[in-house]
Amino acid sequence: MVRAIVGANWGDEGKGKITDMLAQDSDIVVRFQGGANAGHTIINEYGKFALHLLPSGVCHKHVVNVIGPGVALDIEALLNELKTITDRGLPMPRLLISDRVQVLMEYHVAFDCYEEERLGKASFGSTKSGIAPFYGDKYMKIGVQLCQMLDKEILHARLENAARLKNAMLENLYHKPLLDVDILTEKYYALAQQIKPMICDVAQYLHKAVKDGKKILLEGQLGTLRDPDHGIFPFTTSSSPLAGFGMVGAGLPPTAFEQVIAVTKAYSSCVGAGPFTTELFGEEAEELRKRGGDAGEYGAKTGRPRRVGWFDAVATRYGCMMQGATDCVMTNLDVLGYLDEIKVCVAYEIDGQEVTNFPVTPLVEKAKPVYVTLPGWKQDIRGITKYEDLPEKCRQYVEFIEKQIDCPLTMLSNGPKREEIIYR
Ligand code: GDP
Repeated sequence: MVRAIVGANWGDEGKGKITDMLAQDSDIVVRFQGGANAGHTIINEYGKFALHLLPSGVCHKHVVNVIGPGVALDIEALLNELKTITDRGLPMPRLLISDRVQVLMEYHVAFDCYEEERLGKASFGSTKSGIAPFYGDKYMKIGVQLCQMLDKEILHARLENAARLKNAMLENLYHKPLLDVDILTEKYYALAQQIKPMICDVAQYLHKAVKDGKKILLEGQLGTLRDPDHGIFPFTTSSSPLAGFGMVGAGLPPTAFEQVIAVTKAYSSCVGAGPFTTELFGEEAEELRKRGGDAGEYGAKTGRPRRVGWFDAVATRYGCMMQGATDCVMTNLDVLGYLDEIKVCVAYEIDGQEVTNFPVTPLVEKAKPVYVTLPGWKQDIRGITKYEDLPEKCRQYVEFIEKQIDCPLTMLSNGPKREEIIYR
């Protein structure tokens, strides 16, 4: 049985908590795309953890965690993360890494920084983790698979091939120091050796697990609107965060899905550049930013203040649709308890016309939000565990949004802790 947890919006929807919760009831948790460029926040009995590359099942002893071939594997970041969590008392997680996964090199991070520098004000707000140059190289076929790193000669040849192109750019475009293939070969050969016991044929393992009836959880990073094809290109990421890609990036059959759970927040938040129709500014934004999440809306990876705004039903309906969501989870519902009135964006006004289907980026950039205003419930709802016990106005808000997004809201999260969840 395969389930996926994915983002319905711009990322940071609170997927980490939901994945951690559902991981309890899973045998295997798989990362299928992205790299160490985003962060999941998990709060449990060991403390608070920001996971970047490790699957969210690492906090559960019984879970096998898998890094699929669709991921951008930064070996140093992975080793650091493993050290951080074990230093803080978590047992060493069970981890399998695909032999086909490609490795994110130090020069990908450097190229990411050089490119942001070159673009200046026109930059896309990269986290500078090397993700775009990494996926660029993968599709240019100058990347290096982990299995190729276990043989020094093959690794050297692959790096030499990449360096020919990379050094031409470093010399002529960025005017930066060139790559030294011998040094890189030694470094990455040694790094690959450190993780060798975890490397395996992940697809075979997962296919067998499906046959054996194991419970597999696919964990997406970011959200629909960051998809390179279906998102707000070019303010997108470089790998697909859609459940549909999940099976590819993990190495599973597309028919194995049982459930796709899209996560959305009770309001909107986003990190980085790009159109964000319901954005709030000034004091209103500051208040929401301060109250959001468990310690304010600041990026788990970058610490950057997140942009915040009202719930965008146009973007979220599209977000759930493109994920093929069977269920939707709303997080951070507790955060809105201070408001007298709450707005929900139900349509975009573009060139004088009302639009309810999420359009292409040049049109989203022109969109003005059309709001419906609902009454606030003015109550702290943390600690409530039954839907019926929520204030009536809070239930009205939930039910209004459920209709708008055309997807059943089956779980409501009313606090950052694992147990702060209401099932409907
Ligand atoms: P992810 O990348 O989708 O996992 O999102 P993040 O973990 O970066 O962001 C979610 C933030 O909201 C984190 O600080 C969580 O601890 C916090 N969080 C998750 N669910 C809730 C909730 O229901 N209420 C509150 N107040 N905070 C929550």
